[in-house]
Amino acid sequence: MSSTVVTGIGELVTCDGTGPELLGIHSNAALVVEDGMIAWIGAAAATPAADSRIDVGGRVIIPGFVDSHTHLVFAGDRSTEFAARMTGQPYDGGGIGVTVAATRAASDDELTRLLASRIDELRALGTTTVEIKSGYGLTVADEVRALHIAHQFTTETTFLGAHVIPAEYVQDRAGYVDLVTGTMLQAVAPYARWIDVFCEPHSPHAFDADEARRVLTAGAEAGLGLRVHANQLGLGPGVQLAVELSAASVDHCTYLDNADVDALAAASATTVVTMLPGVEFCTRSPYPNAARLFAAGVSLALATDCNPGTCYSSSMPWVISLAVRELGLTPAQALLSATAGSAKSLRRPDIGRLVPGNRAELTVLDAPSYLHLAYRPGVPIARVLDDDGFTRQRTNARP
Ligand SMILES: [Zn+2]
Repeated sequence: MSSTVVTGIGELVTCDGTGPELLGIHSNAALVVEDGMIAWIGAAAATPAADSRIDVGGRVIIPGFVDSHTHLVFAGDRSTEFAARMTGQPYDGGGIGVTVAATRAASDDELTRLLASRIDELRALGTTTVEIKSGYGLTVADEVRALHIAHQFTTETTFLGAHVIPAEYVQDRAGYVDLVTGTMLQAVAPYARWIDVFCEPHSPHAFDADEARRVLTAGAEAGLGLRVHANQLGLGPGVQLAVELSAASVDHCTYLDNADVDALAAASATTVVTMLPGVEFCTRSPYPNAARLFAAGVSLALATDCNPGTCYSSSMPWVISLAVRELGLTPAQALLSATAGSAKSLRRPDIGRLVPGNRAELTVLDAPSYLHLAYRPGVPIARVLDDDGFTRQRTNARP
């Protein structure tokens, strides 16, 4: 067993649900890590002995960001589609087919290399846990391949065979749903913890309520947890379906009516709303009102939705700044949503909050206060502690 004490913490933000705005802030604190777990948190003056010491020089420590919604296994480039959208072309989900073709054509090595570089990128921005969806293969072999590759990088893998109806099934939607809920589901299950569906009657490429119900029900019967892409392009049935089936997360929720908000508030112990404001930014869509949801008692998470079509950014600090500027959250609410909230959406009580017994996944902010996350948009102030070059010094103080 090895132990490390982290000292020189100017502001320790535990996100443990206590104190002002539930942030659990300690000043002049120290933290002891034993074998990757948090063993002790307290005043620097009372720090116990440990094998080694890291001094962060007065910086802020927060829980590592939990990016609970990404589509990182893909090949190809859609920057020209983005440029067209910025001149006024609307988004309807159709460009996903472009990425499907490029991903199917890529080798295993190329997909693995591309994913590894994206994981390096998000860690360099302070993210310590990432959820990764399939959904750019849409054949049995290609979906298995995507999840097998993703599973080498994270335990939070999500089967999204029901991303869009692939071109070869446009005339046989029921046949594709049969495949997703049958042979494909059985083949991917060893590599997937979750199942997801793009439930969006406003897109001809996505799935309606009955199709989404079949997908989610089959996933639950196969032992997978449920996540739903819902209400991204307009009001729809996805939110009510997610609540009814006790999904862990219902994502996007750009358009919500009063009945949706009431249902989400009543389900707050079970179903988290994951807001993805980078998508509204990158598609020039109206932003949802997250402050209204917070006030109603809805559980909120923030994630990037990093994907080649509608938001090619892996930056959680940027998402936090958008949530504060455009969704109406306070900086504290945004940080809680990006850590403890996203962890709740993955049903992972061991991450997202810095409390003894949890995983010691720490992010350092090169700033005097967590407020700088929203205050300094686009500036790389967040880094994962283990990756950031702080020198670990041996101590001989262990009794
Ligand atoms: Zn998505």
